[in-house]
Amino acid sequence: MMSKILKFLYPLRRDGSSGIPHLAPVEGLDLFMPLSHTFPPFYRTNCLVLGDPGEKCILVDPSPLNRKVFRALLKSLRSLNRTFNEIFITHHHLDHHHLAPALAGLLKVPLSMSRITAEQLLKRHGHSYFRDVEVVQASEGDIITRCNHSDVRVLEVPGHDAGQLALAPDSMEWFLAGDLIQSIGTVVVGGELGDMAEYYRSLERIIQLDPQWVIPSHGNPMKSTSHVKKTLNHRKQREKQILQLYSKGYSPEQMVEIIYRGTNKRLWPLALENIKAHIKAASTSGVSGTEHSLV
Ligand SMILES: [Zn+2]
Repeated sequence: MMSKILKFLYPLRRDGSSGIPHLAPVEGLDLFMPLSHTFPPFYRTNCLVLGDPGEKCILVDPSPLNRKVFRALLKSLRSLNRTFNEIFITHHHLDHHHLAPALAGLLKVPLSMSRITAEQLLKRHGHSYFRDVEVVQASEGDIITRCNHSDVRVLEVPGHDAGQLALAPDSMEWFLAGDLIQSIGTVVVGGELGDMAEYYRSLERIIQLDPQWVIPSHGNPMKSTSHVKKTLNHRKQREKQILQLYSKGYSPEQMVEIIYRGTNKRLWPLALENIKAHIKAASTSGVSGTEHSLV
């Protein structure tokens, strides 16, 4: 189903027999969609390859579901005939770095990420997680390569996750937004590292930068920031609804049943986090909270 939609929108191709969908939505970008540890309806995390010939070639968020998908992704990557220089991890959630250290070891390249992401990965997966792989810290304003003759910079975009980083060329031809936005459904902000107020600010930053394409980690690249604007409005409306129910005495659990009635029940625990984040933010600052990926 997803392949049919993508074929309609973009010149979709499957490389050799790897079976992994591959798009080239913008000049200079290759986007693979391997199966990953993510939530329905996507089941896949976008893995981006960027960098002009002669510049550093960066691989973003390779996170194959298992060894079989790992091998298929490797086959797809090798079909590009590129020499990879670095693996960039947008944030610490499992569906963005699973097996990335193994891939970095195989390709003999460093992993780059924010300081917070590195700390979280070590905390959650143990001090041997990076093994012999070099880890490079990436921060706001760093230039990591050039794409279509424009410097590609790191942007710090907390909200969904405290250490999340985005990438965009100075030309603003595109903006790699990671989990700040997705093409279908709602990003859920919650947990100890989510923050709704920061999430709002990060979305507003994308809108202000006004890129031609917004590339999410799950789903299709989106033309213009119209979907980002729609998402921001949706979140603010949802917050209003939650606070109204809260003022009438409904518990967060009861709110999940009311608000997310038509949503896959697998996602209800995330929805509950989201609701609690809205309530917490409203009770501490008057506005806001945190998100993760409820779709
Ligand atoms: Zn995430």
